[in-house]
Amino acid sequence: MDTTKRTIALIAHDGKKADMVGFVKDHLEHLRRANIIATGTTGSYVRQTGLEVELKLSGPMGGDAQIAALAAEGKVDAIIFFRDPLGKHAHEPDIQMLMRIADLYNVPLATNPGTGTLIIEGLI
Ligand code: PGA
Repeated sequence: MDTTKRTIALIAHDGKKADMVGFVKDHLEHLRRANIIATGTTGSYVRQTGLEVELKLSGPMGGDAQIAALAAEGKVDAIIFFRDPLGKHAHEPDIQMLMRIADLYNVPLATNPGTGTLIIEGLI
């Protein structure tokens, strides 16, 4: 992890993983200038773009909670979290917790490509 770079966290629910990969491809040059962390499954998809990604646990296994903890410690500069508005998730409490932590510590959080683009272009 290069401490001179911004750290961006990427998370996508299953119904949004393809969108996340497309989003990363669209912003590859910007994202290469940041440290990228991601929940496990999202990260392994994103790696297929060639982007270097530090993998956390899969979301349902605690990955969202890990990213929330890093955000609370000031170690995450922005979170891009493409949620599936049609899905039900066993780890819903962790998802809510991550969003609460983002609000508590004023960490920019995007839940769709429109705001994701603004964050990336504004931050890196
Ligand atoms: P995943 O986790 O990237 O490991 O699928 C995402 C989530 O469901 O929060």
